[in-house]
Amino acid sequence: MEKLIMTPGPTESSEGVRRALSIKNTNTDLDNDFLELYKDTCEKAKKLINSKESTAIIMLGEAILGLEGACASFIEEGDRVLCIDNGIFGRGFGDFIEMYGGEVVYFKGNYRKGIDVEKLESFIDEKGPFKLATLVHCETPTGITNPIEKICPLLREKGILSIVDAVSSYGGEEIYMDEWRIDVLLAGTQKCLSVTSGGTIVFLSDKAKDILRNRKSKIKGFYANFQNWIDIIENGNFPYTHSDAMINSINVALDRIINGQDFVKKHKELASKVRNVFRNCGFNIYPENFYSSTLTAVEVPEGIEFDDMFNYLKDRHGIFIGGSLAEFKGKLFRIGHMGENAKEEKIYILLKALDKYFQYRDLKLDKKLYIEFVK
Ligand SMILES: *Cc1c(COP(=O)(O)O)cnc(C)c1O
Repeated sequence: MEKLIMTPGPTESSEGVRRALSIKNTNTDLDNDFLELYKDTCEKAKKLINSKESTAIIMLGEAILGLEGACASFIEEGDRVLCIDNGIFGRGFGDFIEMYGGEVVYFKGNYRKGIDVEKLESFIDEKGPFKLATLVHCETPTGITNPIEKICPLLREKGILSIVDAVSSYGGEEIYMDEWRIDVLLAGTQKCLSVTSGGTIVFLSDKAKDILRNRKSKIKGFYANFQNWIDIIENGNFPYTHSDAMINSINVALDRIINGQDFVKKHKELASKVRNVFRNCGFNIYPENFYSSTLTAVEVPEGIEFDDMFNYLKDRHGIFIGGSLAEFKGKLFRIGHMGENAKEEKIYILLKALDKYFQYRDLKLDKKLYIEFVK
């Protein structure tokens, strides 16, 4: 059976990106062609976030490496770090902050809503100062996209360095790195880029680079040390042996996005359509506002077991959907419509199978789930 991976990452790769992984390999340390390809890829990566001023680095390792690397690189012992938490990834940053010696102060938001910027501002005025803040653009486990266009300028105004996890929004949502005063933006390869997992892309503002250069203590980390990557690449070398297959496939994936239809609009429209389908059929969308354009999180209806639903789709149709994590496990099901999966044809196939499943379990729906997707 042909598989259809409709999870909110990893996503399916296109044929071209898969082929790009199988180029004849070279010595990436010695071959100048590879350095050129790498630099070209970094420049293209900046286009997706409308950035001219930032420095991009691409490291080998799942996107968690970016989160850990940012904490290792920017936190010094005793630094007060604001951890902006309205979801599982936001909260999870706290563990990294502690591990690298930071003093974590949590700003707790509502898990069904985007961050309330006014409340955040009062919190900072009351509990500050902070050296840096961690936040998540798209909270993938619950399908919320936070208003970083308001949060990051506020943080800059308050003199706080922003570290933004944009792993599941990069390439799917609108981001203006320079204009929104974002200092550190973290992305991965297996979500909207639809390359295989194993790449971390980090964007650094000039202010972030200044802070790195002026650290008092040494960075606790070798591979995760962003300063090494910046210096060494500026001198035309790599700190450790890179992967030409990975960089080549990222380059091809970026070309597909840059030369394709407006990715922001495409994701936004499809997400809105998917939400309407579920609402019109009587389901509850988990977030109450600030809906993600890259995935939709829906409450598992009464009388349905998530595992049963997951297994039915997988075993009978070869379709994978996402469950959720931690306290949301079993309570939400999630559909990824990001990158190569932001396609009506794929959503249609998934909805048709879901419709069959609900019939099989005698769940009466107000309408056929897939009806809006029939042309
Ligand atoms: C996917 C993702 C990551 C990377 O974590 P994995 O689950 O290991 O892929 C980090 N942050 C967010 C918001 C993500 O969606």
